[in-house]
Amino acid sequence: MNSLKKYEFWLIVGSQHLYGPETLAAVERDARTITAGLAGDPRIPCRLILKKTATTSQDILALFREANSSPACAGIITWMHTFSPSKMWIAGFAANRRPLLHLHTQFNRDIPWASIDMDFMNLNQSAHGDREHGFIQTRMKLARKVVVGHWQNPAVAAKIGAWMRAACAFADGAELPIVRFGDNMRDVAVTEGNKVSAQIQFGWSVSGYGLGELALAVRSAGAADLRGLLAEYRERYDIAPDLAADPSRFARVEEQARIELGMRAFLESKGAGAFTTTFEDLEGLTQLPGLASQRLMESGYGFGAEGDWKTAAMVRAMKVMGEGLTGGTAFMEDYTYNFEPGNELVMGAHMLEVCPSIARTRPRIEVHPLGIGSKADPARLVFETQTGPALLATMLDLGDRFRLLVNIVESVEPPAPTPKLPVAKVLWKPKPSLEDAARLWILAGGAHHTGFSTQVTQEMLEDYARMTGVECIVIGDGRDTRSLEAALERSMRF
Ligand code: MN
Repeated sequence: MNSLKKYEFWLIVGSQHLYGPETLAAVERDARTITAGLAGDPRIPCRLILKKTATTSQDILALFREANSSPACAGIITWMHTFSPSKMWIAGFAANRRPLLHLHTQFNRDIPWASIDMDFMNLNQSAHGDREHGFIQTRMKLARKVVVGHWQNPAVAAKIGAWMRAACAFADGAELPIVRFGDNMRDVAVTEGNKVSAQIQFGWSVSGYGLGELALAVRSAGAADLRGLLAEYRERYDIAPDLAADPSRFARVEEQARIELGMRAFLESKGAGAFTTTFEDLEGLTQLPGLASQRLMESGYGFGAEGDWKTAAMVRAMKVMGEGLTGGTAFMEDYTYNFEPGNELVMGAHMLEVCPSIARTRPRIEVHPLGIGSKADPARLVFETQTGPALLATMLDLGDRFRLLVNIVESVEPPAPTPKLPVAKVLWKPKPSLEDAARLWILAGGAHHTGFSTQVTQEMLEDYARMTGVECIVIGDGRDTRSLEAALERSMRF
């Protein structure tokens, strides 16, 4: 994946001509220092570009129009070094189509007690100018993130970085289509949704393709590509002994490699960023794509099983948000519970398709029967997963709106081995407790499919929800359990 480097962010510093050219020169000099400082911070994942100091309504409108027409510009940061009367900003904000972040900082960290005079006050008055700036954004009902603090404070860079990651996911989602191999698993409700609404809201372009087209791509896989891919499998993964010893069993792995080559070629031909499969439509394929889906996810594709395009899109968005951070992001499904008092756990897994980016152990290729789908025994990667702080996120279509639902969890070591379970799995402790988390999740209409991540943060998802204009419900530390429950119940009929 190399998504974050595709995008840049613009810093527009506001001022006005009232103070004279010396002050404007000082504003520009300080803005350059701040831009260089932030751009050099490892928490800032994308290019940050300082634009011309904004001093007139015409200039500001021109800057926002330029941003709208720049495919590389994924968001705009504004900061008022001095006072910058906000009627000047109305035309620009009215035209703006990019996510906004209002950086409320000032050049100096401390007040220079001994030397401070009225010239200093005129130059360094963001406490004053940024309030005027905030007023007009609120007056115009503009969603934006407000980040407060000195620009050299690492927490400030971290907040800007989280927002940039969310903005890249938003830009990426509008550029990369989502391919559905087949339709939805029949009769399942939560994986359905309004694809037109989703495209308007998130930019997701979701298109279905017949399995015949994919089967043709799989059959077209070249012998040299197949040999190369199998060599990569041997290098990166263990191969279960029964497969290594028996060429007729290893043929199942070769077939899955052909599926990977065919799917990858197909997705590349569509310029896609995510895809879905469904075990109810595998016409022309000999196996459910297990290992193939896992490998494609590992290289950055979003994935949703059973036709779940919303989760495929969210897994892709989360992979973009988390790019380069420690940990990984996977398609996930709440599967079964451990209701043992004092050690309540959720086991997450899927039939096959858990992304090895969350692996803690070297994955092993195994072949086992699959109870559903009526196809040959599929190859898959089996591994133990990373432990520590993690979260689950799902996007719901509630008919009149979308809802992003998040649960903060702790991924834990399995209390005992599971030698008979032939799939990758995760064990997690939901916050604030399994009982409260599952009750709130169910009341909120939360799906069984999610994106599971050990790299994406609550802040990134909240920023993403704000810039896409959807509500975000976070089930976390439990401080708001009662009010959250009451709010969810208020929208219900009895
Ligand atoms: Mn499923």
